[in-house]
Amino acid sequence: MSFLEILKYPDEFLRHPTKPIQTINDAIQEVIENLADTMYQAPGVGLAAIQTGIDKSIIVFDHEANLEKRDFQVLINPEIIITNGKTISENEGCLSVPDLRSDVKRYETVVVEGLDRFGNKTRIEADGLLSIILQHEIDHLNGILFLDRISALKRQLYKKKVQKALKQSDKTD
Ligand code: ZN
Repeated sequence: MSFLEILKYPDEFLRHPTKPIQTINDAIQEVIENLADTMYQAPGVGLAAIQTGIDKSIIVFDHEANLEKRDFQVLINPEIIITNGKTISENEGCLSVPDLRSDVKRYETVVVEGLDRFGNKTRIEADGLLSIILQHEIDHLNGILFLDRISALKRQLYKKKVQKALKQSDKTD
């Protein structure tokens, strides 16, 4: 098992749009396994490659978050092609945005198309938690954090808190 370091806000790398994958080779399979290891260890229900410093269009997710079963799904070059309805995802969080939970406006259902890890075309029609995970992870691939989708006031408070913590760790270095 290999665990990757998860980049944290305000790391600028998280703002990079990712590149689509042209060839799914052994190196990509290894990235996928490492992403899954890292997601289950965190633990989280989804992880985008960009969060570990790899600017490729890959996400892994497991909305059951079952460590034992390890029944995760992979999407390569995913795109949301249909959205429907509106919902509030309660208490959303992100491994790259520690110590923040917030309600986020999301679409109720989405249809996502992409490739599976073998390069087969895949289409997922999602609602509930899976729909929210897909929207959250695909946002990452476009350089968007859930922080960008919460109220301006809450965002400012969080930014201030992070800046203060960074200053304090500078002093102790
Ligand atoms: Zn996230």
